[in-house]
Amino acid sequence: MTQPDAATPAGSTGAARPQQGAGGVELLAGRSAEVGGLTLQRLLPQRGRRSIGAWCFADHAGPVALGADAAGMQVPPHPHIGLQTFTWMICGEVLHRDSLGHRQVIRPGELNLMTAGRGIAHAEQSVAGSGALHAAQLWIALPAAQRAVEPRFDHHAELPRWREAGVECTLLAGECGGLRAPTRVYSPLLALELRSPDGGRIRLPADRGFEYGAMLLEGRVEVQGTSLTGRQLACLGAARERIELQLEAGARVLLLGGEPLGEQLLMWWNFVGREREEITEARRQWEAGSPRFGEVPGFGGHRLPAPPLPWRV
Ligand code: MN
Repeated sequence: MTQPDAATPAGSTGAARPQQGAGGVELLAGRSAEVGGLTLQRLLPQRGRRSIGAWCFADHAGPVALGADAAGMQVPPHPHIGLQTFTWMICGEVLHRDSLGHRQVIRPGELNLMTAGRGIAHAEQSVAGSGALHAAQLWIALPAAQRAVEPRFDHHAELPRWREAGVECTLLAGECGGLRAPTRVYSPLLALELRSPDGGRIRLPADRGFEYGAMLLEGRVEVQGTSLTGRQLACLGAARERIELQLEAGARVLLLGGEPLGEQLLMWWNFVGREREEITEARRQWEAGSPRFGEVPGFGGHRLPAPPLPWRV
């Protein structure tokens, strides 16, 4: 569902200053962005925080009720390079179509992972009559050495799930408590959704080499004693032995982690790269209808044109 703001280079994003919470936690507010006809909250990247591990982009869509005749989210075909799109569905249904020919409806509790690698195009549309939309969509930057891997698409309906101290855990990427998510990622990462119908407190072992963040999806959560409300991202930094989260009844939070990237990304529009030249070339090829990206079959509308580049070529 990603269609970042047109001409905004990622380097100029982010408005609010971080707030310091307890336990070395930094709180970042999101900002509104428009994607496919819906207003959502963008939590990454921000000026003060470019990424958490390889997680370089984070949107929180909804929750929003959609009337019977509402179009919901309608994102026409658009290209990606150098990243994986990671879509976690909480409520509603979205149809994904891509230029490899995949056609997949994603439902609550399911994950779509699209590896763009050297190039792919996709479209995302709310399914008519699905009633609501609530989802998180993130991007994972591919490491430089793997940035041009073959594109692929994976849908995961079965993920490791367990219950601990009143908290329902779903492992979306990486490893936790001896379990491993089936998700194919290219750098050490974690994505763990925690949900508590009646409230609960959980202590998770942390990897000292990871930096962590927590994205609040519903309700109210305390992370290391710092309270998160509304559309906030809590950044926990690295070198932690464990992470403690207190979930109020009905709360839902997405814990993200990963080894710090250690390289500077250049993000523009739907592309993740390192050099202006590769972004400029990807844009030129999309505009020229190059087979690098291909066509998204079955979408009855126009594809998204690329905005002008923010630099001279
Ligand atoms: Mn996209």
